[in-house]
Amino acid sequence: MSDRVILLTNDDGINAPGLIALKEELDRVAQVEVYAPDRNWSAAGRTLTLHKPLRVSEVHLLDGAVGHVTSGTPSDCVSLALLGLLEEAPNLIVSGINAGHNVGQDITYSGTVAAAMEGVRGGIPAVAVSLDVGTETSYDPDYSLAAQFAARLAAFLLKETPLPPGIFLNVNIPLLSTPRSPKVVLTRLGGQAYSNYLVKGEDPRGRTYYWLSGDPLTDIPPEDEGTDIWAIANGFISITPIQLDMTEISLVEKFRKWEKLRWFGKE
Ligand code: MN
Repeated sequence: MSDRVILLTNDDGINAPGLIALKEELDRVAQVEVYAPDRNWSAAGRTLTLHKPLRVSEVHLLDGAVGHVTSGTPSDCVSLALLGLLEEAPNLIVSGINAGHNVGQDITYSGTVAAAMEGVRGGIPAVAVSLDVGTETSYDPDYSLAAQFAARLAAFLLKETPLPPGIFLNVNIPLLSTPRSPKVVLTRLGGQAYSNYLVKGEDPRGRTYYWLSGDPLTDIPPEDEGTDIWAIANGFISITPIQLDMTEISLVEKFRKWEKLRWFGKE
């Protein structure tokens, strides 16, 4: 057994098949500690629970191993583990496998990605892993290829390529209809991944409700070549290095003259 420790979490909840599939493969490369939410927090973003206490319980996972289920969000799970529940800091944090891609500028919605962000905030290298399931969310996709790839990447990161501070990897894996080894491409973030829209309806008591919804965009413009959205649309595995520092540094210099403006008092 390796002396390396991987903290595994997700945003789909501790019983999600993507988490179990990933754990089975990660068990081959390191000791895996699971801290995962007790419910589905998809699209929770980087929510941190500050207004109520959190609960953590030991549970037996579907593979029989002991894991930890928490009443918190994905970011809470990582915080709980890093701030005291793990005896020693993990060597790597892996979040996933999410049911559904997390690509483009929509990644800030993602709880899967948020957990990786929380990891690098704590100084631990992190990887977010998502499986593209297209528009189909009602069936149980095959996570095996995605899990094998994620474990191979985790082993690689543990061994030879430490990520720079403040950087994590966002990995998206296409759902392939035929078994084959997809090409791996390094990508940049694309634009919007979904066309969001509002569904209006009426509940059984006659009151209007609104339901936020969205469909994955399928038309990839040519200028999007090289993005994560383009990669999964073409059946490639996408790896995007993401930095937490979102500063647009060129505009800091360009707008520096604003510091000299008279902001208060008479113009
Ligand atoms: Mn999810």
